[in-house]
Amino acid sequence: MISRSDAIHLDDRDPLGHLRERFSIPEGVIYLDGNSLGALPNHVPARLQKVIVNDWGDGLIGSWNTAGWADMPKRVGDRIGRLIGAEPDSVIACDSTSVNLFKVASSAARASDRSLILTDEGNFPTDVYVLDAVARQHEKTLRMWDPTDGSPIGDDVAFVAMTEVNYRTGERHDMAGITARAHAAGAVAIWDLAHSAGALPVHLADCAVDFAVGCGYKYLNGGPGASAYVYVSPGRQPSFENPMTGWWGHARPFEMSLAFEPHDGIHRARVGTQHVLSLAALDAALDVFDDISLEDLHAKSLSLTSLFMDLLADSVPGLEVVTPREPHRRGGQVSFRHPNAYAVVQALVARGVVGDFRNPDIARFGMAPLYVRHVDIWDAIQHLLAVLANDEWQSEAHMNRAAIT
Ligand SMILES: *Cc1c(COP(=O)(O)O)cnc(C)c1O
Repeated sequence: MISRSDAIHLDDRDPLGHLRERFSIPEGVIYLDGNSLGALPNHVPARLQKVIVNDWGDGLIGSWNTAGWADMPKRVGDRIGRLIGAEPDSVIACDSTSVNLFKVASSAARASDRSLILTDEGNFPTDVYVLDAVARQHEKTLRMWDPTDGSPIGDDVAFVAMTEVNYRTGERHDMAGITARAHAAGAVAIWDLAHSAGALPVHLADCAVDFAVGCGYKYLNGGPGASAYVYVSPGRQPSFENPMTGWWGHARPFEMSLAFEPHDGIHRARVGTQHVLSLAALDAALDVFDDISLEDLHAKSLSLTSLFMDLLADSVPGLEVVTPREPHRRGGQVSFRHPNAYAVVQALVARGVVGDFRNPDIARFGMAPLYVRHVDIWDAIQHLLAVLANDEWQSEAHMNRAAIT
């Protein structure tokens, strides 16, 4: 059995341990929901204040050039590109994950006369809704698919769209293997990195991924509703057709020509004006990733999730953990099933341990490696044991569902 001082000892040896003090986590809170909304880095408010007061207030329209607003989507995109193993000039920060998925899936659908689109059965609902719309618009069929059951990718598949880490179970799919299988069948591979970037290293270029999208407000800590990003591989850029042809995707937006001519690089994935304030927060938040090794980040993530699973197995042996044990098969979260998962999560929140609930019976705990400590995991498990032992979750207040959980 691992003791609390063992956990503290792990924190003392953690090469990323010093980063926690760069985040504002309220006293008494153990925050295990950074996979839903990343925590606030301390320096972000002052940076936003400067952008608002100096750049907007004083600089006014001139700040498009003097404060770097015009370059922001590309600059932030390149910074994210380092975290996801992308080639330079192949990532742009813009819009939301759903919108970006629509763009790349539409382009892939339009470019193919094959009839099928495959996605993983456990994919996030917005991804499935978007893919279904794309399928209907291009007269194709969306088929739910289990990449692990050995079923082949046929020569009628236009593209495979996967989320690398399952939002519910934390299972990580084999990006290199599935992409290679798609390519061998003549299909294109699209990956959603919403639960990957910032928690584990991603190797888009090495895996020869065609298109990818991801989220700015989860492990990247860009703040509520932060800009998402889209990756179009250098080889796919010339033929990438954005279904939403807005002026910021134009080769020369300020010529104000009425004829649309796409930018010849990654800017063609853009639509309208960037969300400058939100991008400024994301840009600042990414500073925390400067100078850290993604291997250290991944090692920390695995160490936190395995500690959580070890402690659970030791202390609540009957609990059904749905997250895979093998390190290469899981992302940065641990989930378990409980018939009263919603109420259990609420009882934990009342104790300051913030995880979340996902329908129908999943309690989910995200372990953002930049600011969660091993001792937090140890303490969270003690709270969980107390909640389960005292049936605390049965209180009336914990049974009523809030609108956003
Ligand atoms: C969080 C998440 C999204 C979010 O999409 P938005 O359009 O930014 O709201 C999309 N896909 C997956 C897999 C997610 O986890």
